[in-house]
Amino acid sequence: MDRATTRPPCDLRKQSGLGEAGKLPRSVDAAIAGGGLIGLAVGWRLAARGLKVAILDCGAANAASPMASGMLAAAAEIEPCAADLFHLAIESQRLWPGFRTALEAASGSAIDYRDHGTMVVAIGRDEVDRLRFRFDLQRRAGAETQWLDAADARALEPTLRPSISAGILCPHDHQVEPRRLLPALRQAFTNAGGVLIDGCTVSGVELAGGRVCGLRTSGGGIVSAPIAIIAAGAWSGTPGLLPPGVGVPVRPLKGQSLSLWVPRGMECPSRVVWTDQVHIAPKADRLVVGATVEEAGFDASRTAGGLYALLEATRRILPGFEELRIEALQAGLRPTSVDDAPIIGTTGVSGLVLGTGHHRNGYLLAPVTAAAIEALVTRGAVPPAAEPFGLARFAGGGSTAHERQIHADHHQRAGARV
Ligand SMILES: Cc1cc2nc3c(=O)[nH]c(=O)nc-3n(C[C@H](O)[C@H](O)[C@H](O)COP(=O)(O)OP(=O)(O)OC[C@H]3O[C@@H](n4cnc5c(N)ncnc54)[C@H](O)[C@@H]3O)c2cc1C
Repeated sequence: MDRATTRPPCDLRKQSGLGEAGKLPRSVDAAIAGGGLIGLAVGWRLAARGLKVAILDCGAANAASPMASGMLAAAAEIEPCAADLFHLAIESQRLWPGFRTALEAASGSAIDYRDHGTMVVAIGRDEVDRLRFRFDLQRRAGAETQWLDAADARALEPTLRPSISAGILCPHDHQVEPRRLLPALRQAFTNAGGVLIDGCTVSGVELAGGRVCGLRTSGGGIVSAPIAIIAAGAWSGTPGLLPPGVGVPVRPLKGQSLSLWVPRGMECPSRVVWTDQVHIAPKADRLVVGATVEEAGFDASRTAGGLYALLEATRRILPGFEELRIEALQAGLRPTSVDDAPIIGTTGVSGLVLGTGHHRNGYLLAPVTAAAIEALVTRGAVPPAAEPFGLARFAGGGSTAHERQIHADHHQRAGARV
């Protein structure tokens, strides 16, 4: 099991940067720091538009994308007072089928996109009241969801416990398999001519005359580019990575999840099942049970408490799962902004673009983020749905006293980073 960690995204001691010089392209149209889901999605769309793009990724062990459940759950995960975010999520859901078709064609790989929907369930009267609140919120926001009484919910998902007392069917909340999506994105990106440099830590943004002229690496290399895109997940606010005066209020929010092997022929839920405590996402040969939400700085240890919480919450809704073999207990660091919404767009430094802060919804929001940054780079402005998500929404460009404090706390715990 991992020990508590206070380390930079990648182990810099193992990264001499030797050999990097031979791999780094000298000059591109856009250089991206971070090759997680967001960096790859953005990079692919730009490369597919004919731009010369390089993605530099240091291979952080606790990145969020490989640990995720892959839910595209705009309705199930709706939050009060977040109308703009819901609008963005619905727009991304609308884009997902086309994104999927294009990605599968470009990569030659299926991503296990499942359109069976999501069922939010309640057990007991208190939870039914909370479920009703969520349903009302969804209806007011215009989500097309359906209330299910206990019998309807059990009929739809007969493998759940008979004690399920009500449900909401969210037919447009689909899912993908992260283990297929991420390799497909890498393949599509390189097929489109993109250059992917693994094991390469970006240490800063190069400026000339106050505007971006490239990315600098910890090995001393420079990739020249008029556009630099920061998609470094929970590490996007690393001191020194961004030019002076640009503050990105993103912190790590730990999530632990469990992957369980499902023997062939075993009856399982057919769609994502979601409660306030846990979600169960059925894939081709496994169930993903997620996820804890923990303020733990950059400590991504897998813990007994996390495992216990996931097992206890699963036991309430799914009988018989105790026999399943554990494939993995995993932990990732969600990039989370102070308002839980993504940060997409410009920074005030000419040529510097952000695609970060996707919190619990990076998979859901990947297509709309990629489309927004593609529009920004190629046409000079993000589409209307993405306009509310610029850095400018944080007073002082993301550097209010409160945000500075959050930042300072987390980076103090993270120690020196690059
Ligand atoms: C347990 C769990 C379950 C989740 N489930 C879902 C879900 O069901 N649906 C959903 O929509 N979202 C989900 N999420 C959230 C989703 O995973 C994230 O929002 C998304 O993956 C963020 O992607 P990213 O590319 O911004 O960050 P990351 O995946 O963290 O990628 C950042 C990348 O940047 C690289 N990097 C960092 N610093 C540097 C540097 N200085 N130089 C070079 N490279 C650098 C890292 O190596 C890493 O590869 C979940 C998250 C967790 C943890």
